[in-house]
Amino acid sequence: MAKNYPGYVLIRDALISDTGSRRGVKGDILIKEGIIKEIGANLAAPEGANIVDASGLLVHAGLINAHTHGHGGLARGQGDKWTLELLLAAGPWITGGRSLQDKKLTTQIGAAEMVLKGCTAAYDLYYEFPAPSIEGMDAVAEAYAEIGMRAVLAPMVADHSFYEAIPGLRDALPDDLRQKVDTLRLGPGDRTIAAIGSILDRWTWSSQDIRPAVAPTIPIHCSDSFMCGCSRLARDHGVAMHSHVGESKVQAVVGMERYGKSLISHLDGLGLIDENFTAAHAVWLDDDDFRLMADRGASLAHNAGSNMRLGNGHFRLRRALDLGVNVGIGTDGANCSDNQNMYEAMRYASMVSKVQGPDPRGWAAVEEIYHAATVGSAQALGLSNAGLLAPGYKADIVFVDLGAINWIPHNWTVNQLVHVEDATSVRHVMIGGTFVVRDRRLLTMDMAKLAREAEAARLRRSERRCP
Ligand SMILES: [Zn+2]
Repeated sequence: MAKNYPGYVLIRDALISDTGSRRGVKGDILIKEGIIKEIGANLAAPEGANIVDASGLLVHAGLINAHTHGHGGLARGQGDKWTLELLLAAGPWITGGRSLQDKKLTTQIGAAEMVLKGCTAAYDLYYEFPAPSIEGMDAVAEAYAEIGMRAVLAPMVADHSFYEAIPGLRDALPDDLRQKVDTLRLGPGDRTIAAIGSILDRWTWSSQDIRPAVAPTIPIHCSDSFMCGCSRLARDHGVAMHSHVGESKVQAVVGMERYGKSLISHLDGLGLIDENFTAAHAVWLDDDDFRLMADRGASLAHNAGSNMRLGNGHFRLRRALDLGVNVGIGTDGANCSDNQNMYEAMRYASMVSKVQGPDPRGWAAVEEIYHAATVGSAQALGLSNAGLLAPGYKADIVFVDLGAINWIPHNWTVNQLVHVEDATSVRHVMIGGTFVVRDRRLLTMDMAKLAREAEAARLRRSERRCP
């Protein structure tokens, strides 16, 4: 992460987003060593403070992406009419055969987009085929560190391939195809667990707020002993766990057939669900599942764009909030929802809540959506002092240009952040008191070089696929 200012930063005359009022409130923000120290009107500037003139700008807490996949960056726009299961079947094609340089590059693409679009931290479930590696995860961490974003990085793992996870699928394939998919078998579970253990043991990025986690990808792709092995590792190292639970109907049906109960009940029976556990998507969870998640203090990551893109259905946000579950908002990877725009993720979350029935009492309000994309996501990431503009919180701040068309006219601040803003008004982004984006330019990345490298990778990979 870029170095913090040694001393004070004073943001002057900003309109500060406040969910309690229709419009933001005018004020100053004083930051000391990357942490917000004071918010108020006409604050005195300490000697030597960097003064930032924010007149004409709205400031809000950096958005936090509760669920994405850095490995998806190079794959955006590749598929159209594919379900989750078709996407998973294409997984080795999308993600396999990557050099270390590709692994970093794909993460840089996603991280650059997130920061430029007002997102300051992400929970990244990163997939390396056939198994996670120390060098691979270091390359991913380095990408976030160089851009200056906070991240939780979870090697995404399983001990069964997609073809083994769906009952009857492998056996239904013709002989030649069955032989081909058998070459896509994953490494033995104990070897994968040992690889994650080494990654956790040798992690060197935490001081830059890039922390590790563990992500057994989808329960039906993991044996119980493998899931428990992941959980033991996570607990031994004091890190979080994240899994895709009930994302598609196929998962819910196979889970019921295999375990005789819901996926969440099954995972809870294994002792996996606690306040460090996040279930992504949760489209096919019932009320009892939500209650259980709330009782355990666990989180849900809501990825409305991906749920629609892959035809998985609609997450019941109102019901989850009413039953007391913490909900964060995510974009999901660019391989399944293309862009990494947290404003769009908020807008979709709001729309998807409202499309589920005509009674507004069943809908989520814009304040709840914004809260989920900031405070709710922060909780899922285990970032205790992020997601709010308040004293003691990290100075992760997005500056939005009120002269941009999205704010003409400016009626209701939070409503317009959720329903109108599309990231085109983002002028500056500050992380830990340091500008990472200034005047719409990403200061920590050479975009022309990124574009050249991405194009070279694309050509290299398309040649590999079409000999
Ligand atoms: Zn995902």
